[in-house]
Amino acid sequence: MKPFTYERAGDVAAAVAAAATPGAVYLGGGTNLVDLMRQNIERPAALVDVSRLPARIEIGPDGRLWMGAAATNTDVAADPVVRRDFPIIAEAIVNGASGQIRNMATVGGNLLQRTRCLYFYDTGARCNKREPGSGCDAIDGHNRMHAVLGASSQCVATHPSDLGVALAALDARVHLAGPAGPRTAELLDLHRLPGDTPHIENTLQPGELITAVSVPMPPAAARSAYRKVRERASYAFALISVAALLEVRDGVVISARLALGGVAAKPWRAAAAEEALVGAPATRAAFERAADAALADARPLAHNAFKIPLVRRVLVATLEELS
Ligand SMILES: Cc1cc2nc3c(=O)[nH]c(=O)nc-3n(C[C@H](O)[C@H](O)[C@H](O)COP(=O)(O)OP(=O)(O)OC[C@H]3O[C@@H](n4cnc5c(N)ncnc54)[C@H](O)[C@@H]3O)c2cc1C
Ligand code: SF4
Repeated sequence: MKPFTYERAGDVAAAVAAAATPGAVYLGGGTNLVDLMRQNIERPAALVDVSRLPARIEIGPDGRLWMGAAATNTDVAADPVVRRDFPIIAEAIVNGASGQIRNMATVGGNLLQRTRCLYFYDTGARCNKREPGSGCDAIDGHNRMHAVLGASSQCVATHPSDLGVALAALDARVHLAGPAGPRTAELLDLHRLPGDTPHIENTLQPGELITAVSVPMPPAAARSAYRKVRERASYAFALISVAALLEVRDGVVISARLALGGVAAKPWRAAAAEEALVGAPATRAAFERAADAALADARPLAHNAFKIPLVRRVLVATLEELS
C-alpha cells in the first residue's frame, strides 16, 4: 500500500479544506476504499475521514427525510421513521452486504462505492475504468454480472449500490459541499454512464463532499417494495434488483416510480415503464407492457442475456404484489 496521510475532519468546512491537498480522497466507513487501497487500485496521498460528520436521520421542516452522509447503513435501516415511512430504503439496505459491513458503511460511501467488475479488481486485466485507454476485458470475457442498459463499447460495468436503487425510485437529492460552496443535485444525475470516459463515474466537482441525502415523502397511498435477485441468499451483490412504488385507485395506476439495479453503471430509473403504467389498469397485461418498455433498449452480452427476462419477471411480479 502506498503511504498516505490521515486526517479526521471535525466539520464540513474542515473536510473540504483538507480535501484540497493533492491526491486527497474522502474516507467514509472504508469498506470499499480501503480494500481498493490494499490492492493498489486506489492510491490516494491523503485520507480525509468524514465518518464523524453529520449523521442525523430526521424529517426536516421541508417534510423531507434527511440522512446525514455519515449515517451508517445500519442506523438508516433501523431508524423508526425510515421503517415507517420509507420502508423501501430499509429493505434495500438490509438486502446488501453483511451486518458488519453495514455497521461501517455510510450513506455517502455507499453511493460512491466502485463497481464490482472482476476485471476492475484484477490489476493484470485490461480495464478502461482503472486505466483509461487500456481496453476492457469484460466485454469479451466473463460478463455475467455486467450491464444490459446504458453500457458503451468502453465499459459494461454495473453500479453495485442497493441503497442507490431505492433512492433513485424515491426522487432523492444529494446535498454537496465543495470549494465553490454548497449545491444540491438530483440523485439521478449523480452517476454517469460510461460513454468514452468510464473512469469518470460521477458528476461531483473536484473536492466535493456529499453532506446529506434528502427524500420527499412518498404519496400516502403508495405501496413499495425492493426485490433483489442474487446468487446467494445473503452477502452478494445484485444480479438484478427492482425498486417499485405503486399507487392504485379503483383498479387504475395513479402513480408509479420504478428503478432497476444490476443493469447499468448507475441506478436506473425506468421512466418508460412508469409512463406506460400511469392511467393504465392495474393488470398483469399492463405490467408486462411496462416491463417491455423498461427493457426496450436492453442489449445483452454473451453471458448476461438472462438478466432481461429476469428483470421482466421480477418487475411484473413486484407490480402484481403491490397492486
Ligand atoms: C463483501 C461485501 C459485500 C457487499 N455487498 C453489498 C451489497 O450487496 N449491496 C451494496 O449496496 N453494497 C454492498 N457492499 C458494498 C458496501 O455497501 C460498500 O463498501 C459501502 O457501502 C461503502 O461505504 P463506506 O462508507 O465504507 O465507503 P468508503 O469505502 O469509505 O468510500 C467509498 C467511496 O466513497 C467516497 N466517499 C465516502 N464518503 C463520501 C462523502 N461523504 N462524500 C464524497 N465521497 C465520499 C470515498 O472517497 C470512496 O471513493 C459490499 C461490500 C463488501 C465488502
Ligand atoms: S466493464 Fe468497465 S470496469 Fe469492467 S473491465 Fe471493462 S472497463 Fe473495466
